[in-house]
Amino acid sequence: MLEGTTAEIRERKALRVNPAKTCQPIGAMYAALGINKCMPHSHGSQGCCAYHRSHLTRHYKEPIVATTSSFTEGASVFGGLANLKTALSNIFTIYQPDIVAVHTTCLSEVIGDDIPTIIKKSKVEGIIPEGKIVIHANTPSFVGSHVTGFANQCEAFVKYLAESSEETKNVMNLFPGWVEPADMRELKRLASLVGVEFIMAPDTSDVLDSAMDGKYEMYPDGGTTVADLKAMGDSFLTLALGPLASTPAATTLEKKCNVPHKVLELPIGVSATDAYIDALRLAGDTSVPKELERERGRLIDMISDMSQYLHKKKVAIFGDPDHITSMVSFLVEIGMEPAIIVTGTPGKKWEAKIKEICKPVNEDVVVHAFSDIHFLHQWVKANPVDLLMGNTYGKFVAKSENLPFVRFGFPILDRVGHRAFPTLGYTGAMRLIEKITDAFFDKRDREDADQDIELVL
Ligand code: SF4
Repeated sequence: MLEGTTAEIRERKALRVNPAKTCQPIGAMYAALGINKCMPHSHGSQGCCAYHRSHLTRHYKEPIVATTSSFTEGASVFGGLANLKTALSNIFTIYQPDIVAVHTTCLSEVIGDDIPTIIKKSKVEGIIPEGKIVIHANTPSFVGSHVTGFANQCEAFVKYLAESSEETKNVMNLFPGWVEPADMRELKRLASLVGVEFIMAPDTSDVLDSAMDGKYEMYPDGGTTVADLKAMGDSFLTLALGPLASTPAATTLEKKCNVPHKVLELPIGVSATDAYIDALRLAGDTSVPKELERERGRLIDMISDMSQYLHKKKVAIFGDPDHITSMVSFLVEIGMEPAIIVTGTPGKKWEAKIKEICKPVNEDVVVHAFSDIHFLHQWVKANPVDLLMGNTYGKFVAKSENLPFVRFGFPILDRVGHRAFPTLGYTGAMRLIEKITDAFFDKRDREDADQDIELVL
């Protein structure tokens, strides 16, 4: 399919081919789904909302519920005030959520709709019932990416809802960043094992991976409650995982309610998970349980067993900045050699950070933020690698270059394991090693001549 791609790279400024990102409202929608009894609302045309819902549905394999202001030509010219008021009235009457999280789209941003004023008017006019909440986040898709939208929505939870009673509680806030429902569950398991009391927000576990019991629940049991979002202002610390996704909410909470924060990379791999466990241990003034030491030990054992297959293998990787930062650190940890690294999200500082991480194994690593998968493909053509890692869209490059391919990040539209099994924490890192080595071994088994094929690897 992509066999015609050439190795010659021409500088492109105004064109993206196979972008390595998607639009802001998708991130806002995902974050809002992590709040209990919350209806994400897309303030724009039906097409945007339909695309965002279907993209999330295809990744999480769950029906994604969200509403839309359904702009037509009239709203595009005169603004979306009437549409949003009608929508809120319908939503509270028909779907009865506790909270509606409105996010904007390109169109409503270009029109310049003043959402806070519309929310105020709707309250005064009794459209928003007593005790119900409407919040908003600006998510213009012509800047940033889906991760920016996630971060903006998380910041909106804090801006609108966090409250301080001036009485600090022995509870820690845990902002997980954009990770899978299974990863959120894993982060909670690790925090509970270390013995820290926490509020996690958002939390999509038991929402986007809820159990099948034969009944359809529009609002599954999972998700951070509004009461917990309000209580975040009384916590003694915020641990924010994933700088891009979680820092805005953490800094806003510190400014608003004086809750100090600490930002960590996503706990992917040994040292990033160590840093997470250590931060939990210090926050809770506890010690690391034996069970976790053993988990870590099993990971180290697997790394040493598999290092003969991983050592100095060149990797091309693309995806979201927070995911890539931690994944690249892990690849360096296990002796692999990141060679070309691409994200669609803008970020010059991120490029410098990644080059620094790769320095011990590859000083010539090529790192491009605000780039695309086509560029990565062209680079790989001219400088072959051993492994490709990235979201589903990478499979066309992998096929064209006959590369082992490990799916990682968002979106994964053609596999199911990502939402069920964590890649965070020590056990998550073991799963990653399994996926990487399987990809190498599968290619070898497929291609070896009969007389060379190995039974034992
Ligand atoms: S118009 Fe903007 S918000 Fe809507 S789908 Fe396109 S990029 Fe996303």
